[in-house]
Amino acid sequence: MPASPTAASGGASHVAASGGAPVIVLFRDDLRIADHPALHAAAARGVPVLPVFVVDCDHGLGEGPQARPLGGAVRWWLHHSLASLGERLAALGAPLVLRGGRPAEVVPQLAAEDGAAAVLVNHSLNPALAESERLLGERLAALGCRLEVMPHDHIVDPHGLRTGGGRVFQVFTPFWKAVRATVTPPPPLPAPEALRPLPAPPAGAPLESFRLLPTRPDWAGGLRETWTPGEDAAWQALEDFLGRRIVSYRTGRNIPAEPATSRLSPHLRFGEITVRQVWHAVTATGDSAGAEHFLSELGWREFSVYQGVHAPDMARRSLRHSYDAFPWRQAPADLAAWQQGRTGYPIVDAGMRELWHTGWMHNRVRMIVGSFLVKDLLLSWQSGEEWFHDTLVDAHWASNAASWQWVAGCGADAAPYFRVFNPVLQGEKFDPRGQYVRRWVPELRSISDRLIHRPWESPLELAATGYPQPMVDHGAARHRALAAWRSIKEEAEE
Ligand code: FAD
Repeated sequence: MPASPTAASGGASHVAASGGAPVIVLFRDDLRIADHPALHAAAARGVPVLPVFVVDCDHGLGEGPQARPLGGAVRWWLHHSLASLGERLAALGAPLVLRGGRPAEVVPQLAAEDGAAAVLVNHSLNPALAESERLLGERLAALGCRLEVMPHDHIVDPHGLRTGGGRVFQVFTPFWKAVRATVTPPPPLPAPEALRPLPAPPAGAPLESFRLLPTRPDWAGGLRETWTPGEDAAWQALEDFLGRRIVSYRTGRNIPAEPATSRLSPHLRFGEITVRQVWHAVTATGDSAGAEHFLSELGWREFSVYQGVHAPDMARRSLRHSYDAFPWRQAPADLAAWQQGRTGYPIVDAGMRELWHTGWMHNRVRMIVGSFLVKDLLLSWQSGEEWFHDTLVDAHWASNAASWQWVAGCGADAAPYFRVFNPVLQGEKFDPRGQYVRRWVPELRSISDRLIHRPWESPLELAATGYPQPMVDHGAARHRALAAWRSIKEEAEE
């Protein structure tokens, strides 16, 4: 079920632009030149092309109730990704024009100034970006300019895929079976060889003027050490993964000390590479258990987006509505201890410090820190989602919210609330020699392998490290969490 072009209201059509009137290509979460339907279509027409990106940090380029500001780590990535995209477009002959403001206001102004016949944009399944498309279509139509909405970046059409009974899938395994049985992602589009520029392109604002990078303080040193944003780097990450790690992905992907996963998430988040491209590159490697498992992880991303399209307020509201009455605690000091990696549970603190330093955290550890927040600390999943939204370079509107709801037990196909991760046993199972913990919690370096996940059992040694005592007793916290869960369960059943 390949994605098909969709038209926004407000006069969108797919008629080729006539004569030599220029077209605008609006970039958003698709910062690449290859497999870019809007850019590909614009180049194919042979008319002058004006590539545009509108920086709108306060609303994340979106409109309507689901629009939210961009997080700090995402802003850092965006700066560098735009710099990289700008270089690539300039090399093709049509430099990227940057403007600040709301896309649905700025783009019609540009279209009017430059006499554009059409604006081409890749459809987004993000409800806030889709709402921005709708508004843009209306405003362009009032000017006599068309909005042409091209296919989105996903391999699943969320409106087309349904259970045998015609319902929205709530469980991943049948969803994924249906995808595997019916979806063949279309071959990716090539990058244009050249673009025809406008004879006198409008002036853009310098990238630096948007102040996307942190300065006082500059907390991005760890991000710079860890990542290279941009389309080239996305392909490099994919090649590294396919060349070396995919064969052991299935066994290695749960071990946070090992670089076993692809680390493609921020590149996918910004559309520097598409799921279509990754899919075809992975399947071209030949069948292996690692490849199939990896595709199913991309499937979780598709499933998150699928859920988000059907429940646009997923970042705020529990999919299981009975959880809206959950008696979460309000405890800002406890939330700060979790955010800063000072809980006294080594695997939790290692994860939270990895996140702060690099803007990324291993998936297994995301689940452990998430469980600790919502179950051991009884703090809302929304407060965790919000922190991840601000600190992850891969912060994604659907994957983040759906994963938090999964951890909290209130999402579709979620881990049951009563299954509470024990942070000590999780640490001992997935980081048995404490390599991951020692890397991110250096004060525990001298603690033995046997005690690295329970350093409080050696009080004298622990005191010498300066590392805190556990902020809660896991056994007691587990009982408290289960009692809270039973209270809403009983209410829902009454
Ligand atoms: P790989 O293991 O190499 O997987 C390949 C790709 O598959 C990833 O890049 C990602 O796009 C996708 N993927 C893998 N696992 C999942 C998953 N469980 N759910 C959705 N997609 C997945 N992922 C995000 O991209 N953005 C988020 O904001 C985000 N927030 C999360 C919050 C929590 C509480 C949890 C438990 C998970 C979250 N994830 C999120 C999912 C997952 O942790 C990351 O996608 C993964 O760690 C990224 O590393 P990778 O690229 O090396 O993954």
